[in-house]
Amino acid sequence: MLLLKDKVALITGATGGIGEAIAKTFRDVGATVVITGRNQQKLDEFVGANVNSPNDAADSRANLHSPLHAIQADLSQPGEADRLVKETIEKVGKIDILVNNAGITKDTLLMRMTDEQFDDVMNTNLRAAFQLCRAVIAPMTKNRFGRIINISSIVGYIGGPGQANYAASKGALVAMTKSIAAEPTASRGITANCVAPGFIKTPMTDVLSEDLKKAYMAQIPAGRFGEPSDVANAVLFLATDMASYINGQTIHVNGGLGRF
Ligand code: NAD
Repeated sequence: MLLLKDKVALITGATGGIGEAIAKTFRDVGATVVITGRNQQKLDEFVGANVNSPNDAADSRANLHSPLHAIQADLSQPGEADRLVKETIEKVGKIDILVNNAGITKDTLLMRMTDEQFDDVMNTNLRAAFQLCRAVIAPMTKNRFGRIINISSIVGYIGGPGQANYAASKGALVAMTKSIAAEPTASRGITANCVAPGFIKTPMTDVLSEDLKKAYMAQIPAGRFGEPSDVANAVLFLATDMASYINGQTIHVNGGLGRF
């Protein structure tokens, strides 16, 4: 079923585990997808591997009728969020759905955490998401439709050792999303929600030690880490018309690890 036919989605961090799954899921249900990440080569590889036909690939390079487009951006840098939104609209005409998925960790115990480690995580995980939300609000208001979906984390709810910076950024994303949902744009067909994953199998969790993975696993009622597609399905639901009366909420995708 083409749940997102005629819709345009901008997905940040789409060269990572969860972002890639969201991009593929959206493309499979008919959306035009603009992916973004820091690494141009990875973006090109993703487009090459995921367009449906050689014609699509040629269209993508020429920016015509393609279901998949890539724009490189380092969202930790000033001005990049605004440029990304401007270039996306120039390329594909509009943005119906914004998925703020790009995120980093710089874990270390509080007593060792530097201002730089704190700022780096806040800039990528929170400030960039804020700037992108701000940049899409006017065009979405004009179109009388918008879906903003911010990828938070269970860590934003329960915290985590060595993650004061990351937990603060993810908790703040939830609070920011609730505030956006409370603004008058809600009456113009725009919703803002979060998806908060638990432990999902991606490069971000691959780096955890086996001991730590076992310790987390023991606490997950589902008995497994989640798949990126588990998160992508929740994001898809929030992006569709089925979720038009859901606003300012968080869907937790964590196998029962946290019950909020
Ligand atoms: P990942 O490391 O595989 O992917 C992260 C993506 O963000 C990459 O595409 C990377 O290029 C992009 N990115 C990082 N910094 C960027 C910057 N400055 N500018 C542009 N893009 C940037 O991670 P993932 O596990 O796929 O995580 C995706 C999101 O889900 C993140 O926000 C993460 O915090 C969140 N999350 C992940 C888990 C998990 O268990 N994997 C759990 C909870 C929340």
